[in-house]
Amino acid sequence: MCLDGRSLLPLRHRGPVCLRALTRAAMMICVTLGMSAKLQAEVKVSDFGKTADGTPVKEYTLTNSSGVIVKLLSRGATLKEWHVPDKNGKMADVVFGFDDVAGYESPANGYFGATAGRVANRIAGGKFTLDGKDYTLAVNDGPNALHGGVKRSFDKVVWKGTPFESADGEGVVFTYTSPDGEEGYPGTLTAKVTYTLTDKDELRIDYEATTDKVTPINLTNHAYFNLLGAGSPTINNHELMLKADHYTPVDSTLIPTGEIAPVAGTPFDFREFHAIGERVDQLGAGTGAGYDHNFVLNNQDGDLALAAKVRDPNSGRVLSVYTTEPGIQFYGGNFLNGAVGKGGKKYDYRSGFCLENQHYPDSIHHANFPSAVLRPGEKYTHTCIYQISAA
Ligand code: BGC
Repeated sequence: MCLDGRSLLPLRHRGPVCLRALTRAAMMICVTLGMSAKLQAEVKVSDFGKTADGTPVKEYTLTNSSGVIVKLLSRGATLKEWHVPDKNGKMADVVFGFDDVAGYESPANGYFGATAGRVANRIAGGKFTLDGKDYTLAVNDGPNALHGGVKRSFDKVVWKGTPFESADGEGVVFTYTSPDGEEGYPGTLTAKVTYTLTDKDELRIDYEATTDKVTPINLTNHAYFNLLGAGSPTINNHELMLKADHYTPVDSTLIPTGEIAPVAGTPFDFREFHAIGERVDQLGAGTGAGYDHNFVLNNQDGDLALAAKVRDPNSGRVLSVYTTEPGIQFYGGNFLNGAVGKGGKKYDYRSGFCLENQHYPDSIHHANFPSAVLRPGEKYTHTCIYQISAA
């Protein structure tokens, strides 16, 4: 048997990829037996150009035993590409991104595939008070602060990447230390984001952080998916299921009112699969209108649990999302307006969706929401698994 539990016969036909899995298995056996096997990472590392201020950006290519390919960038600890087969074995890249750093630095970039932080999502008025001290953040989304700031938010900084190979698969550990006061947030925040591509076709993302002063924190991945292939015209025909009996209604600037409302009888009821486009126009039409809401996951105990599934009837691809977080922002791409991304593909209105596992937006102002505050001596942890299969 090979690492993914399938028989050797089909794997032999997969040649070098299987060999890599066998090599990995052999190396792990050596390690288990205490032999001095050097774990040689097989992640391909290449140069991806430089940021406007001259910082080099690296690209990391991960491959698993089924031939699934993931590419990551050190800028923003970003998921850049994810190539997966459809029901007929035809590969497509299902996430949004750009072919160069300039694309990522341009206004066309809606946080494509990035790690959002220090506080993903919105903070009302860009202000908060913590342990009696007032803090002011840059306001970059109408009257509110969005996704961690304007210059040194986590999606924009260049992280240190360290490739690795383990029994679970191959991946990259990204680390970044955000200095006290960066983008207005208190405390030196030491953050680590580990991506692992497994032989079960999962992309696992583990987040960790510590601080030396009390601070709010909310890290998430901001991948936009189109399961027919990034650049396909719509996600309205994708079918979504969310393990959420409740959601958090918002005001006109997308700040939660504080209410935890039942989804029953509303267009937010995805407890059974519904096409995303089936009821979206009940939420309005035009820029910004549509799904852009936090769903309160039924699992609130911090264990890894299934949160969402999305299936595309055309390609047969199915995305499953597992998380330890209490909420998930389902964003239906209502602000997309034709940005040109990888390979000249256009990302049109409602042509991509995000399922951002996280704490609820504006938690810092709502005592009834799970706390998103980290204190010295504590460790922030969060795990997300995106898995894509096809049938
Ligand atoms: C927000 C959207 C926003 C998008 C890109 C999502 O997390 O909920 O309102 O347009 O990020 O910034």
